[in-house]
Order: sequence, then C-alpha cells, then structure tokens
Amino acid sequence: MTTQTNPNLSPLEHNHTQCVSEALVTAEHLCTERGVQLTPIRHKVLELIWESHKAVKAYELLDRLKPLQQAAKPATIYRALDFLMEQGLIHRVESLNAFVGCSCSGLQHEQLLLICKNCQEVEERSAKKVMAAVSQEIKQAGFIVHSKAIEVHGICAKCQTLPGVNVNNSVS
Ligand SMILES: [Zn+2]
Ligand SMILES: [Zn+2]
Ligand SMILES: [Zn+2]
Repeated sequence: MTTQTNPNLSPLEHNHTQCVSEALVTAEHLCTERGVQLTPIRHKVLELIWESHKAVKAYELLDRLKPLQQAAKPATIYRALDFLMEQGLIHRVESLNAFVGCSCSGLQHEQLLLICKNCQEVEERSAKKVMAAVSQEIKQAGFIVHSKAIEVHGICAKCQTLPGVNVNNSVS
C-alpha cells in the first residue's frame, strides 16, 4: 500500500500523523537548504498549526503555546507566522484571518482554498487551470497583484455525510 502525499489529496481519510511528520521534515530540509533558521519556536508554531487541517487563529496558537512556553507573547506568534509564510510553509486564510499548513512544496504558490464552515478544515488545491484563467483576467484588468488565493466557503465532503449539517444554506 502506498501512502504518498498528494497535495490534491482530500484531507478526509488519511494518516495525519504521517502528514504532520512529513510537513515538519520538509520544513526542516527547506530551511536548511535556504540557509534560514527554523528556530525551536518557529518549529513549534508550525507543529501547532499542523495539529489539524483546520484554519487556526493567532490567539488560538498563543493559547496552545503558553503551557509550553510561558513567556510567549502575541508578537512571538506573529513573528513566527511571518517567517513561516515567507517560507511558504503555511498559508493565511484571509477571509478567516487564520492560518493553515501547506504541504505543497514550501514554495510560494497560488492556491485554491476550499474552506468548510462546519469543521473549518481547509483543503488546498493547486487548480493550475483555474489560476491561469484568473491570471489572464487580472492581466486584462491591468491590476497589480500582491497576493493571489481563491477562498471558497462551503461544506466539505466529509461533513456532508454527517447528520444535522445543512449543506444548502449558502450561495454558490
Ligand atoms: Zn493530515
Ligand atoms: Zn500551499
Ligand atoms: Zn467539513
């Protein structure tokens, strides 16, 4: 049985322990390669973000970090988050003001983010054709891009199977 990580693999059914360890190992390699420091605090913040595929807010990270590192302050978290974003190891979900781990390659890249409003899990798709089409539109508009991600809100495949989840109450 192969358990290769596929960036387009749905986060539904998978071995998350492996998911996390791969993400951390990749991050360590990339930082070494780039000659940047994945300090213990940056490593810990990345690990906390990878606890799940849910988008996590900065204050939630601080709450999780506090028991481990009592001196941690909001600035500690923000500095670590800035570093992790610069290195392309996490993504900011703008519409939620929250963060999610990236398992693509550690390179800065365009993303299509599918955000479940029931479980808050975020599935990242590379969606190259979609992003190319969007780039074309942006070019035609003569717009200068600072960041580009498409965030789609709805109900994920897993939550659709749960009782009591209203799947229809949103615009498309
Ligand atoms: Zn996972
Ligand atoms: Zn990514
Ligand atoms: Zn869900």
